[in-house]
Amino acid sequence: MREPQSGAVGVIDPAVAGPVLAEAAKRRWKITHILNTHHHGDHVGGNLEIKKATDCTIVGPRIDRARIPGIDVEVDDGDHYRFGEAEAEVFFVPGHTSGHIAYAFREQRALFCGDTLFALGCGKMFEGTPQQFWSSLARLRALPDGMRVYCAHEYTQSNARFAVTIEADNKTLLDRSAAVDAARSRGEATVPSLLGEEKATNPFLRADVPAVQRAVGMMGGDPVKVFAEVRHRKDVFR
Ligand SMILES: [Zn+2]
Repeated sequence: MREPQSGAVGVIDPAVAGPVLAEAAKRRWKITHILNTHHHGDHVGGNLEIKKATDCTIVGPRIDRARIPGIDVEVDDGDHYRFGEAEAEVFFVPGHTSGHIAYAFREQRALFCGDTLFALGCGKMFEGTPQQFWSSLARLRALPDGMRVYCAHEYTQSNARFAVTIEADNKTLLDRSAAVDAARSRGEATVPSLLGEEKATNPFLRADVPAVQRAVGMMGGDPVKVFAEVRHRKDVFR
């Protein structure tokens, strides 16, 4: 991403360096920042090589500083990180990993949420508890509908196949699923999505919605338990 007034260029979660440096060169962009959401290799693998090539500043979660290669600036929940003339609000969103953060650029309506929230899905629960993960997702859900959700992976089509097994009667979801199939068959990306459409269709944001609770046989249930059940069903879904 590029902040036009200052010319600051940030790379979110670079898995590798080569293609990122090549794209920046092609655009004549000078990379000034790396913003990391969590420590997984497919999110920080390019950190050191990009830093070596550009002398950029690496920003990441304080709690995971030992797991973020080359980290320069440690940020925490509630911090407002100045990126050029823009500002990111930092959300601590554990669940996928214990130190995961998200960056919300409210004015630019862009949410970089790593592997916490996906289009029509969420990350696997590697290091967190259902309580933590649901609380994290509920906090992201409270952001405005117009936020563009820049998640870290293009998993939308397979997520859609699962989502329709939970809410087979959700017309908005069925329409979205068809649109995702069409976009993918044209070779188009489905990321970013809009947070508003995630609220209406993503089963992992809807553990407190009666239709989802009914679907998993837990009407009126604790959303944490409903979320855990939906997460479990996705884990074993083939
Ligand atoms: Zn991850």
